[in-house]
Amino acid sequence: PKHRKPFVGGNLKMNGSRAILKEIIDRLNPLKFDDHVEVAIAPPSIFLDLAHRSVRKGVNVAAQNAFNCTKGAYTGEVSPEQLKDLGIDWVILGHSERREIFKESDELVASKVGHALKSDMKVIACIGEKLEERESEKTEEVVIRQLRAISEKIDDWKNVVIAYEPVWAIGTGKVATPQQAQDVHLIIRGWLAKNVSEKVAQDTRIIYGGSVKGTNSAELAKQLDVDGFLVGGASLTEDFIKIIECFI
Ligand code: PEP
Repeated sequence: PKHRKPFVGGNLKMNGSRAILKEIIDRLNPLKFDDHVEVAIAPPSIFLDLAHRSVRKGVNVAAQNAFNCTKGAYTGEVSPEQLKDLGIDWVILGHSERREIFKESDELVASKVGHALKSDMKVIACIGEKLEERESEKTEEVVIRQLRAISEKIDDWKNVVIAYEPVWAIGTGKVATPQQAQDVHLIIRGWLAKNVSEKVAQDTRIIYGGSVKGTNSAELAKQLDVDGFLVGGASLTEDFIKIIECFI
């Protein structure tokens, strides 16, 4: 058994409404998972306050993004300090959709991670290779490049969860095999051991994301270095409960 407490995050992306969010929270609140797994749901930012007021203690709410400044002339952005003011403790940063669609560079993602941690937030930092990068055997190079950029902004790893999310598996229904996930998680943990410390490597949760469902989560969860999941599509459905239940 692993000593790291599993972590399951639900990324709603730009989906849902107040009513759908209520359904999701009504499924989560009665579930007794607290001793076994840490859970966070990440709704669109306009619903963060509602989500925060609706979840029971023990269910975390996460933002899907945050800027790297405290305040100012950054139209459309939200700062970690403002999230903290709302009572939000977690933020997803560097999601592949932010990197791809919104052109967030490794440097910007790293800077956001550094600022969020300084603001006392907990961070789910996402990394992962694209299909063409995997096919040209660049998976390790890409994942480590993204990890290194982030790690340079981290002094204390206790508030960091790493999400390994191969881009070819996100929203495609094409999940990584348990072995494919394990292989990259081990590479990430090995890099942490060599470049940060053995303790950080052993204590940091590395979660997998990409087409996780109730039907494939148990096998993935068995892998030695898979400490949980970041779930997109399935977080909107009852499947999210099944995924959490893998760890109970
Ligand atoms: C994600 O957006 O982080 C994700 C893993 O999406 P999906 O589960 O839908 O592939």
